[in-house]
Amino acid sequence: MSQVMNPATGEVVAEVAATSLAETDAAISRAAVAYERWRHVAPGDRGRLLRRFAAVVDAHLEELAQLEVRNSGHTVGNARWEAGNVRDVLDYYAGAPERLTGRQIPVPGGLDVTFHEPLGVVGVIVPWNFPMPIAAWGFAPALAAGNTVVLKPAELTPLTALRLAELALAAGLPEDVFTVLPGAGSVVGERFVTHPAVRKVCFTGSTEVGTRIMAGCADQVKRVTLELGGKSANLVFADADLERAAATAPYAVFDNAGQDCCARSRILVQRPAYDRFLELLEPAVRGFRVEDPARETAEMGPLISAGHRDRVAGYVDGAMVAFTGSRPDGPGFWHAPTVLLADTPADRHWRDEIFGPVVSVLPFDDEADAVRLANDTEYGLSGSIWTRDVGRALRVARAVESGNLSVNSHSSVRYWTPFGGMKRSGLGRELGPDALHAFTDVKNVFIATEE
Ligand code: NAP
Ligand code: MG
Repeated sequence: MSQVMNPATGEVVAEVAATSLAETDAAISRAAVAYERWRHVAPGDRGRLLRRFAAVVDAHLEELAQLEVRNSGHTVGNARWEAGNVRDVLDYYAGAPERLTGRQIPVPGGLDVTFHEPLGVVGVIVPWNFPMPIAAWGFAPALAAGNTVVLKPAELTPLTALRLAELALAAGLPEDVFTVLPGAGSVVGERFVTHPAVRKVCFTGSTEVGTRIMAGCADQVKRVTLELGGKSANLVFADADLERAAATAPYAVFDNAGQDCCARSRILVQRPAYDRFLELLEPAVRGFRVEDPARETAEMGPLISAGHRDRVAGYVDGAMVAFTGSRPDGPGFWHAPTVLLADTPADRHWRDEIFGPVVSVLPFDDEADAVRLANDTEYGLSGSIWTRDVGRALRVARAVESGNLSVNSHSSVRYWTPFGGMKRSGLGRELGPDALHAFTDVKNVFIATEE
C-alpha cells in the first residue's frame, strides 16, 4: 500500500495497492490476449467506442478535475482543462481508425500496398506533473491504432488514471484493452521495458530515467517514444511589446507551480530593455495568486511533495534573488514564485531543470547572442520569441534547437499539432496528425498479377 497525499495540506487522501511483478506479468499477458480481438474490431466500431469513452470522460469532467486538485494540487481551472484535454484527445483520435490508410505504390507485375499494422501491447509510463493529459497522449492514439495499453501512473498521482480506466469500461471498451497498473517505476515500469510482449514503451519523465529506458528497450529493439525534461528560453527582444511580454512571462513558467517540462524557466532580455522588463515583471510576479488550488481564483498551488519543495528551495539558497511573489502559510508543500538574476550562463540555476516556480533572467546583446545562449543547453523542448520584427521572429524560430516554439505567445500544446523535444528533451512526437504512426509499423505487401 502506498499513501497518496494532498500536497496542499499534507493529508492522506487515499491508499493505493502497488502492483507486484507477478501481477504486472499477468496484466501484460491479458493485454496480449485482448490485442488479438481489439486489433480486429472494425475501424468504425473502434472509433465509436473511443468517442463513447470521450463522452463518459466529459460527463465526469468535474469529478476528475476535483480528484486532480486533491491528488496533485493543481488549480481547479487547470484541472478542468486537463480533464477536458483527455476528452478532446480521445475525440480527435476516435476519427483515426477509419483514416489509417496505407499507400498503393506502382510496381511492375503486380500490386504493391502498405498497411499500418498495430504493434501489440503498448506500455505507457506517466510522470506526476500532468497525470491526465500525458496518459491520454499515449493511450488514445495507441488504442485508436489497434494496440492494447498497460499504463503506469506515477506513484504520487495514480488516482485520475485509475478512474479513467473505470470510465473506459463504463464506456464499453472490452476488458484488458486499457489497464492501469499503479506501482513503482522500478517494478511495473521496468517490466514494461523487459517484458517481450510489450512491443513499445511510451515514456514521459526525467531525462535520467528516459535514457535508461531507451538503453533497456535496445535489448529487444523495442519501439520507444521519450518526452523528457526541458530548460526552455523566453527570448525578449528590445523591440517587443514589453508590457505584454512581462505580463505573460510569469504564466509561462509558474503555471502548475513550474512543474511543467515546457516551462520557460530562462528569460533572456536584450540589454536596452533589461531594466524596463524587470520593472514590469515585478508587479506581475507579486500579483500572481498562489493559494488553495481548489479556489476558483487560484493561479498556482503547492509543489507535489515536501522532498520536491526542498529540492527546489536548494536552487534559491545563495542565488541572487530579484524579487518573489507570495505563498500561503501553514501545511502543504508551498514555494513562492521566485525570480533569480543569473551572473553567468554557468550558474547552476541557469543550467539545471528546477521543475518549480523559479525563473532565471540574463541579458543578451544581439540576435546571434540570443540564439547562442538559448541553444547552450542539453535540452530542446519549447521556447518563446518576443519581437515585432517578423523576419527576426522566423530566423530565430528556425535557429533555436527546440521542438515547440511560439512567437509573441507562450502556447505550446494543442492536441492536433505535434509535440516533442529535440536533443535530450526527447525522441519522437506525440499528438497531431502523425502520432498514430508512432504506434504502428509499416508493412509492405506485393501481390503478383502475372499469369
Ligand atoms: P521520473 O522519475 O523520470 O518518473 C517518471 C515515471 O517513470 C514515473 O511513473 C516513475 O515511477 C517512472 N519510473 C521511475 N523509474 C523508472 C524505471 N527505472 N523504469 C521505468 N519507469 C520508471 O520523473 P518525475 O520525477 O515523475 O517527473 C519529473 C521529470 O519529468 C522532469 O524532469 C520533467 O521535465 C519530466 N517531464 C517531461 C515531460 C515532457 O513531456 N517532455 C512531461 C512531464 C515531465 P515512480 O512513480 O515510481 O517514480
Ligand atoms: Mg523520479
